Amino acid sequence: MSNLNDIYQEMILDHNKSPRNFKQMENPTQHLEGYNPLCGDKLTIYLCIKDDIIEDISFTGSGCAISKASASIMTDKLKGKTKLEAEAVFHAAHDMLTGKIKDKDDILKQGNLAALSGISQFPMRIKCATLAWHTLHAALNGAHQTISTE
Ligand code: ZN
Repeated sequence: MSNLNDIYQEMILDHNKSPRNFKQMENPTQHLEGYNPLCGDKLTIYLCIKDDIIEDISFTGSGCAISKASASIMTDKLKGKTKLEAEAVFHAAHDMLTGKIKDKDDILKQGNLAALSGISQFPMRIKCATLAWHTLHAALNGAHQTISTE
């Protein structure tokens, strides 16, 4: 059996190499920039929300593999979700990244978010991975100013 951490690492590399929904949106209902000065990661999250449903979500920007992969996984996971569901996914991702979800079955239940669980072992990289999520969270709550992880 191959090591789970290897699988997670491969998922991160794959999302970095071919990020999903990596494009600027024409007419977003919300968009917000997030910045992680610790690493230099800079992302913009675009949202098209209608009747409380995330009809479309995309991102642009430049950053390290982890920041990009995390944003890619996030957009993959949230398209078609309601704002309330997105909030729940945000908390699950946050728990995953901060190592609060430890049980292997609980981790696997989270689908592709599981790829983020390996990052909790690298404290220096957690802000890279949470950047997209914090930016999304702020955008859903109506923020307009650039979000910084510091
Ligand atoms: Zn980074």
